[in-house]
Parts: sequence; C-alpha cells; structure tokens
Amino acid sequence: MQHVEVRNLNKHFGSFHAVKDVSFEIAKGHLIGLLGPSGGGKTSILRMLSGLESPDGGDILFHGQRVNDLPPQERGIGFVFQNYALFKHMTVFENIAFGLKIKKTPKAQIRERVMELVELTGLKGFEKRYPHQLSGGQRQRVAFARALAPEPQLLLLDEPFAAIDAKIRQELRTWLRDLIERVGITSIFVTHDQDEAIEVADEIMVINQGRLEQKGTPWDIYKSPGTPFVASFIGESTIVEDASTLKGFDTTAGPGVRALIRPEYIEMGYDHEFTLRSATETGTVRHLHFRGSEWMVEVEVGSNRLITYRSLEKPTLHPGEEVRVLIHRAYLFNDESSWMVENR
Ligand code: ATP
Repeated sequence: MQHVEVRNLNKHFGSFHAVKDVSFEIAKGHLIGLLGPSGGGKTSILRMLSGLESPDGGDILFHGQRVNDLPPQERGIGFVFQNYALFKHMTVFENIAFGLKIKKTPKAQIRERVMELVELTGLKGFEKRYPHQLSGGQRQRVAFARALAPEPQLLLLDEPFAAIDAKIRQELRTWLRDLIERVGITSIFVTHDQDEAIEVADEIMVINQGRLEQKGTPWDIYKSPGTPFVASFIGESTIVEDASTLKGFDTTAGPGVRALIRPEYIEMGYDHEFTLRSATETGTVRHLHFRGSEWMVEVEVGSNRLITYRSLEKPTLHPGEEVRVLIHRAYLFNDESSWMVENR
C-alpha cells in the first residue's frame, strides 16, 4: 500500500482554478520534490495535504485511510517553512521539546528524545542557545529537529532553504538527504529551484498552472521530458521552433514540430574539424560566459537562433567567428507527444 495517495485533487480560489485534477502516489520513506514556477499551486497542494486548506474535490489517503475530514493536528504531519518560525524566547532545547510538551510526554522521555535529535541534526553543544545566537543554517536544522520530535508520519517542507546563502544551502541539501535517509520518513519538499529538486529528491513532480505535468526520478525527467514545459523548465536547453530545419536528422517533422537541444549533445569547432559537414549547421559565435566550473558558448545558427554549447576548457573560439555545430541528439515535440532523434 502507498503511504500517500491523492486522487483528482481540485482547488478554486473564487473563480480561479489553482489546483487542477492532481493525482499521485508516494511510497513510504520517499523524498518527493514538488517543483514548478511561482504561483503554480505547489503550496496549495501542500496545505491540502496538511489539512490547513480543504479541497473542493478529490481524496487524500494516508496508508489507505481517507483523511479529508481529519483536522491538521490529527494527521501526524511535521512542517518546516522557509522563515524558520522558531520561538525566539526559547532555547534550542525548548524549541525542539515544544511538540512533546504539548503532548504531555514525561520529562525524562522528552530529554532523551531531544538529545537524540540534537545529535542527529548536528546541534550538540547548542542546546542552551537562543535562535538569535545561531546562523541561518543552524536555525533551520533546529526547525527540522523540532518538526521530527513528535515522530510525525509525514514531513512537509516548504522552500526550507530559500532564505539561506547559496554555499550553506548546498551543504544543507546533502545534509537533508542523509537525514531523511536515516530517519526513513516520507517527505514532500516544495521548491522552485530545479537543481535543488534534482539533487535532493527520489522523485520529482513538476507542477505548472495547477497541473501535474510529470512525475518521475530526476534522471527520467531530465532524460525524457514528457511535455515541452518540463523540457524547458528542467535542465538547460534551446528550443528550435521548426524542427525540420535541423541538419543531419531524418525527420519527417511536419509543421508544428519543435525541437529541444541540450548543451551536452552538441559538438562545436572549425570547418576542417568535421568530415560530414552536411550533417552540421553553420553558426557564428556570439557570446562566451565563464560560469565558475565551465564555459558556455552561445552560437547563432540560422536566423536569430541561439544554441548553447558547454565546455570544461576555455574555448579557443572568439565572438564573430564562423563555426560548425554538430547536434548529436534532439527531442522533438508536437502538441500530443515527444520523441528523441539522433543525428545520422
Ligand atoms: P510559490 O512558489 O510562489 O509559493 P506556488 O506554486 O506554491 O507558488 P500557490 O501558493 O499554491 O503556488 O498558489 C497558486 C495560485 O493560487 C496562485 O495564483 C495564488 O495567487 C493563488 N492563491 C493561493 N492561495 C490563495 C488564497 N488564499 N486566495 C486566493 N488565491 C490564492
């Protein structure tokens, strides 16, 4: 049996249809990334799971039991939000102990559980500090410990690292993965950051304009995007409006077929470096950007079409130079489906 099952979930705010017929299942212990642009409906889905918002239609089941009518406090859910929301006048120890105190857990048991969580979240030695004496990353770890203390069945994380510096955020992603693996708790993680979702989640659900566009492992979604939206939202790509103009592909692409090209499936160089020139495009180098670990080269091919190429070495190319571009692989799309094609 699946831990979480959602069937045909719908939510309107007035006449606005914010969540449209969303259905999915989550296996116990999995970490799911809810990914999509701002306003897509991610938080609304999370709030309906938690019971803070009620759906207009559809069912929510935990371990096969319908929970639509259960109040939030009876759903066994732990929360972590982006803005810490720690109790300012309480120490780290008291913050973590809060949920257990409310449940009238005996003192000795509270102490044992808090110390266990302090250890688990790497906060040993910080028990007596107040939130203002902690860094943003430490505060967020306290928020995780506090959410986990009452042993919830499900953990809901709404952009938990959004307010944290890039470097620490990176460390926290790895930390979160390890934590969830050790605790083995089913978790849903809302983010609009594709790198974060790809790195952290067992599975990603891409949400756009209230619809679930695709659900799958990060690799599957990257490798085989199901819709043009998913393809353009996850990973870097160039969209070519008319796929039949691409050189080297045996495509019988009719009108309305577009192509998506990822930088890693492109080779680029001077004319003499290619033998099968008929399978290449002619382009002009426009821009070179250094991004810290790699170079991105933008090349204009055809009419105003910019294709991006990625290189680990500093390219010897210069803006304005003419080059050849070999596209090894492309994804083609029309309104109904998507399929992959290889250069001959
Ligand atoms: P973000 O990443 O910006 O948080 P999101 O994907 O979580 O976005 P939601 O917060 O679920 O999106 O919002 C979905 C849509 O529903 C938005 O257009 C939002 O304006 C609207 N909405 C959300 N809550 C309410 C509400 N209480 N009343 C009216 N409209 C709402």
